[in-house]
Amino acid sequence: MRLIFIGPPGAGKGTQAARLVERYGIPHVSTGDMLRAAVKAGTEMGKVAEGYMTAGKLLPDEVVVGLVRERLKAPDATKGVLLDGFPRTVPQAEALDVMLTGEGISLDAVVLLEVPDDLIVSRIVGRRQDPETGEIYHLQFSPPPADILPRLVHRKDDTEEAVRTRLGSYHDQTAPIIPFYEAKGLVKRVDGVGNPDDVTARIIAALGR
Ligand code: AMP
Repeated sequence: MRLIFIGPPGAGKGTQAARLVERYGIPHVSTGDMLRAAVKAGTEMGKVAEGYMTAGKLLPDEVVVGLVRERLKAPDATKGVLLDGFPRTVPQAEALDVMLTGEGISLDAVVLLEVPDDLIVSRIVGRRQDPETGEIYHLQFSPPPADILPRLVHRKDDTEEAVRTRLGSYHDQTAPIIPFYEAKGLVKRVDGVGNPDDVTARIIAALGR
């Protein structure tokens, strides 16, 4: 199974991806997670990425395309993959197409998680992640247990200002890849509003397995 998750920041891609990779037994390839790990490790890539990420701006296509190209060569990604946060521009989608076609591989579906803009800012500003389990919470909508509250992390780019920039990039640069995949008959539109279990059920129904 090879899937792509597309949706605005805060649509629930990370939360839903974690559930689906378990169900389908495929690796979760999140360019955002890979870049955050590079920043934390202080690698050259991390140093380049940090400024873009804090500002909520997209990295240059060649940087992320190179990262994904390497990741897809790893043995665990040869049988299936869930790509989360990539591609995010038409050139990235085209580069992925060339990579997959070169290997004689096709995508099964592109899941488009739809959440209106006016819900995004409140979803993101209240978002917190547990660094120990990777679990994502929301201070109001999905409150964490009180005992783990002190260790939860607020992403540096989950500020209102950065979210507005990220939403702008989504509409200007990422949304244009939807027609690219619609032309291939791959897009499954899923309503991302509501509780996470209902959204998971909708995605599974849309995928039909
Ligand atoms: P995410 O965790 O997917 O929201 O990504 C966090 C940040 O990482 C984004 O705001 C970008 O700065 C950067 N990033 C992640 N994926 C990409 C991508 N495919 N293209 C460009 N920048 C990316």
